[in-house]
Amino acid sequence: MTFVMLGSGAVRDNPCRGGPAQMLRIGSEVLMFDCGRSASTNLARAGVGCEEVDRLFLTHLHFDHIVDVPYLVFAGWVKVRNRRLKIYGPDGTRDFVERIIRPPFQQDISSRLSHGKDIHPLDPEVIEVDGNHCFLEREDYRISAVFTDHGNIPTLAYRVDAGDRRVIITGDGTPDEDFPAFCKGADLLAIECSGTPEFLETQPWGAWHITPADIAAIARKAEVKRVMIKHLVIEDITGDPSSPYQMAEQIRGVFGGEVLVAEDGLVVEIG
Ligand SMILES: [Zn+2]
Repeated sequence: MTFVMLGSGAVRDNPCRGGPAQMLRIGSEVLMFDCGRSASTNLARAGVGCEEVDRLFLTHLHFDHIVDVPYLVFAGWVKVRNRRLKIYGPDGTRDFVERIIRPPFQQDISSRLSHGKDIHPLDPEVIEVDGNHCFLEREDYRISAVFTDHGNIPTLAYRVDAGDRRVIITGDGTPDEDFPAFCKGADLLAIECSGTPEFLETQPWGAWHITPADIAAIARKAEVKRVMIKHLVIEDITGDPSSPYQMAEQIRGVFGGEVLVAEDGLVVEIG
């Protein structure tokens, strides 16, 4: 299993950090988690075409996590996708996916159909996920989800189990007290870390996010092997590029294990 951090940033238009997106390659399947700004471009940089993505898992419907979905869908269709993309996400995902295809791109679709394009692989298959259970079981892997508290928007964290390997990919928000058990022994915990408590207090959305101290406590209790912090928006607002490294150091001090600061294109081989 290979993990690639595609987009380590968040809402701001940081030229060095794309919007939230991750890729996991398991055997012959390509899974993608969130699809923020520049996700498709960063996917191409990782050597994977839009048409190769089998399944896309959305954590929630804040724009920074989903704004590249139309590009992924249409570029995959134009490049000849041989099977429909499957998109998983919380309540509201079906509406979102249907509405970004038609009507906004109806003229494009009609124009291509008039040139003989096959409509079939265009429309993704959408599966809305409840959380708190395993919702996908394949020969090589299983995927489960739990909800996190992210203000008033339904938000999921995903767990991928492949053989004896485990990867956790969060969206945004604060998990509940069962989360360390959900993450138990994970090889990688890729978790949002939007800012320090002092910084979050100054932001109107600050209460929607987890603190470095809580990440450290989870990682320690769950005995994960490695943490990667992502959704790195603090430096965009404070102008201090050392902030993520300071947060990583703070987490390392309590957790005691390896803490990576996400970068676009960062690859982690999982077993
Ligand atoms: Zn969010």
